[in-house]
Amino acid sequence: RQTSPSPNPFPEGEELSLAAAARRLAPISPTPRLDAELLLAHALGISREALLLGPGRPVPPAFEALLRRRLAHEPVAYITGTRSFWTLDLHVTPDVLIPRPDTETLLETAIAHFTGRAPRIMLDLGTGSGALLLAGLDQWRSAWGLGLDQSAAALKVARGNAERLGFGDRAAFVRGSWADALDARVDLVLCNPPYVESGAALPPDVADHEPSAALYAGPEGLDDYRSLIPQLPRLLAPQGLAVLEIGATQAAAVRRLVEAAGLKAVTAKDLAGLDRCLAVTAP
Ligand code: GLN
Repeated sequence: RQTSPSPNPFPEGEELSLAAAARRLAPISPTPRLDAELLLAHALGISREALLLGPGRPVPPAFEALLRRRLAHEPVAYITGTRSFWTLDLHVTPDVLIPRPDTETLLETAIAHFTGRAPRIMLDLGTGSGALLLAGLDQWRSAWGLGLDQSAAALKVARGNAERLGFGDRAAFVRGSWADALDARVDLVLCNPPYVESGAALPPDVADHEPSAALYAGPEGLDDYRSLIPQLPRLLAPQGLAVLEIGATQAAAVRRLVEAAGLKAVTAKDLAGLDRCLAVTAP
């Protein structure tokens, strides 16, 4: 074998390198082994599934640079540029919030509401990467969807995802601030707004890397709900549903805003048993 110009820091092969990487990541990540697998798959230019199924490959020196970025708290999804959400693999950049598994609660809640029928028109307020809207379009193959965001950079990511995943002809994206400019009635409103209290201490992965405009919403984290909830009565079609993501302690406060707008709300919990979503309908 030829000697390479710089020595490979991973001479010990795939499994031992993964184990060593996971040990180094353990102090900073709740999912060290998964992170290591995703980063190694990225360094090899293959999927995690292919990595796990495939033959042990030589570990490329590039793996070390990716590990160091993760050790400096950069989220895996921004390092690899992808994140799975619901049935989809989405492209993500630091211009968009990384889709979280908790947010799938909104889709489960919507599916439970639309039994035996499908929403025809969906609106995703604060679409970011397009995660909720595109997952909805994948779920309901005859539906059409509009994604709204105030960030032009986020809309570019969302449009790219829609095109790449084959939803280009059923999705449109518009720049705007909540639903101010919109004059339409939709069957399903999807919305994961910013809801973190402005002073809250978030983990460095989130605070130092994810877009603050997608996270913080004033001193109680309620600013965005206060502006968007009053729009819902005119946006919802008869029998329509709005699913709003909420912080774990916000159900009562957001429910009051929903009721003040003349609508009714039912709370849904995420997999961790925390209040995560309000299902909002006409009373
Ligand atoms: N759940 C996210 C977090 O705590 C917040 C998402 C949001 O504000 N919409 O990082």
